[in-house]
Amino acid sequence: MRPIPLVDVKAQYVPFLPRIREAIEGVLESGAFILGPNVAAFEREAAAYLGVRDSVGVANGTDALVLVLDALGVGSGDEVICPAFTFYATAEAIARRGATPVFADVDASTMNLDPEDVAARITKRTKAILAVHLFGRPAPLAELTQLGVPFIEDAAQAFGSPDIGRTGIASTFSFYPTKNLFCIGDGGLVSTDDAALAERVRMLRFHGSRDKVDFELIGYNSRLDELQAAVLRIFLGELDGWVAKRREAAARYAELGLGRACDLPEDEPGHVYHLFVCRSNERDRIRAALKQAGIGSAVYYTTPLHLQNAFADLGYGHGSLPVTEQLALDNFSVPIWAGIDADAQERVVSVVQAAAPVAS
Ligand SMILES: *Cc1c(COP(=O)(O)O)cnc(C)c1O
Repeated sequence: MRPIPLVDVKAQYVPFLPRIREAIEGVLESGAFILGPNVAAFEREAAAYLGVRDSVGVANGTDALVLVLDALGVGSGDEVICPAFTFYATAEAIARRGATPVFADVDASTMNLDPEDVAARITKRTKAILAVHLFGRPAPLAELTQLGVPFIEDAAQAFGSPDIGRTGIASTFSFYPTKNLFCIGDGGLVSTDDAALAERVRMLRFHGSRDKVDFELIGYNSRLDELQAAVLRIFLGELDGWVAKRREAAARYAELGLGRACDLPEDEPGHVYHLFVCRSNERDRIRAALKQAGIGSAVYYTTPLHLQNAFADLGYGHGSLPVTEQLALDNFSVPIWAGIDADAQERVVSVVQAAAPVAS
């Protein structure tokens, strides 16, 4: 039987290959590769889509975080609260600025930051909260807003979710090829309603200069390039359709009875299912059966960030973030992408059900 990958990026863009080729051809014809008309147009179109005043294209989602933190003046002596159940880049960006990541625990049902635990960790040094919309599910924005500390949305996994990207002081996105909105290489974006902040990020991405003549800040070289922007402009137009397909696929897993064999991610209208992450005490058995059947699966953040060697000096021990550590032990994800077909999903469900007949 044909293997089923965890994600089939190519299946999502194959229908648009003629338009992609035409866009690439256009960039080649123009001879403009860096900060040209496609980047400017994509920034306008992305800001309009997100409902924010401005957006700034950068080289990747990690740089988007570093540049926002830099533009906000986050540095040595500052604390930024973030989850430990997220991709490493979230906390790495904080440490890269010389600030201290303060890890808060997450909520077991949403897998996102637990606002109560965040509140308990706010100190005089807390400069910001960095909230992740994990696996495409919106973080608790209303509760986080009430904490009275500026927060940033790490929206790398959630472009296309209707309410994200405009509540925090700024939001960051990654267009790494497996993300919901992706490009054909590396790319990233910062969005914000704050014109001064956008201007500062725009300067920082080009060596701290507005005009390539006067250099006012110690900046970076971190630009979205024209080829990526040209492709992103096409894909942005497809995004709502892709999100609808991901949500349909998620609903189908529930209808097919996957929930009889493991705990499914809780649905909510804004969930854009970057990944379909389930939980089971039998996850190793389930994954072995999936592998045997030629079906891709993955586990995320098995060593949560507070237990990574790079953050050992922060002194978090085993047991310090109990919900995070439990999720690290029992989460696993099954195939999802925009356009996964029902046959593939039926095969996934029957293999998981055979491996773990009763939800644990
Ligand atoms: C992918 C991702 C990033 C980093 O994005 P890159 O474009 O790979 O640098 C940051 N945070 C989260 C939550 C991510 O999923």
